[in-house]
Amino acid sequence: ESLKLIAGNWKMNGVGESLEEAAALRVALDAEAANCRVALCPPATLIDRMAQTLGGSAIEIGGQDCHGAASGAYTGSVSAEMVADAGANLVILGHSERRAGFGETDANVAAKAEAALAAGLEPIICVGETLAQREAGEAVSVVSQQVMGSLPVSLADKPFAVAYEPVWAIGTGLTPTLEQIEEVHAAVRAAMIARLGAGGAKPVILYGGSVKPSNAKEILAVPEVGGALVGGASLKAEDFLGIIRAV
Ligand code: 13P
Repeated sequence: ESLKLIAGNWKMNGVGESLEEAAALRVALDAEAANCRVALCPPATLIDRMAQTLGGSAIEIGGQDCHGAASGAYTGSVSAEMVADAGANLVILGHSERRAGFGETDANVAAKAEAALAAGLEPIICVGETLAQREAGEAVSVVSQQVMGSLPVSLADKPFAVAYEPVWAIGTGLTPTLEQIEEVHAAVRAAMIARLGAGGAKPVILYGGSVKPSNAKEILAVPEVGGALVGGASLKAEDFLGIIRAV
């Protein structure tokens, strides 16, 4: 079984002084090795300095997005190669905040995943239903379609992860029941295998949405939950450590 991955998504939070939290996490995990992979995904402007702060530690670094093209006239965008060059080995793609706020489609996300692979980055591809879709009984079908459309076939046999993040659970303190998480994660796995064959069987499926130290243990024990993608509770080393220790 693959090692679980606990990844922190700082979103648009963090300036230079926030690196003190990364440094504190490092000190703690240098002293007590984690039972899992641990990653921090800061804003792009901090990747380089975070890589210096965490250099030589086991903590991995991820970007939060990259462009689907290798280079060119895309003012304001950052390519996968740039994310990797800054010091990241992972990249979050297709987060619901990008799908909703920046109009990213499954096809865009798949193109970004191809670009990430070409740059040697491990993509963390996000999927998740809205509250309206959940209430209409469409969660499993929506998420399955997102997996089919957002994972390029070239991911087979490459390292990557999928993150199931119900939109209504992000930053709300609400979480699905453990049964609902289990149901969707099983559907995500089935869609991964349908899309990639045997290459879809091994990569971890993260759960994200209001994960905190007090609920991490029960969520991480659900079948097919291979880790967590953590927003708010990743900003403070102490909170994030509480989740890491729950693995
Ligand atoms: P919260 O943990 O703040 O709910 O955010 C989840 C998320 O969107 C991680 O990508």
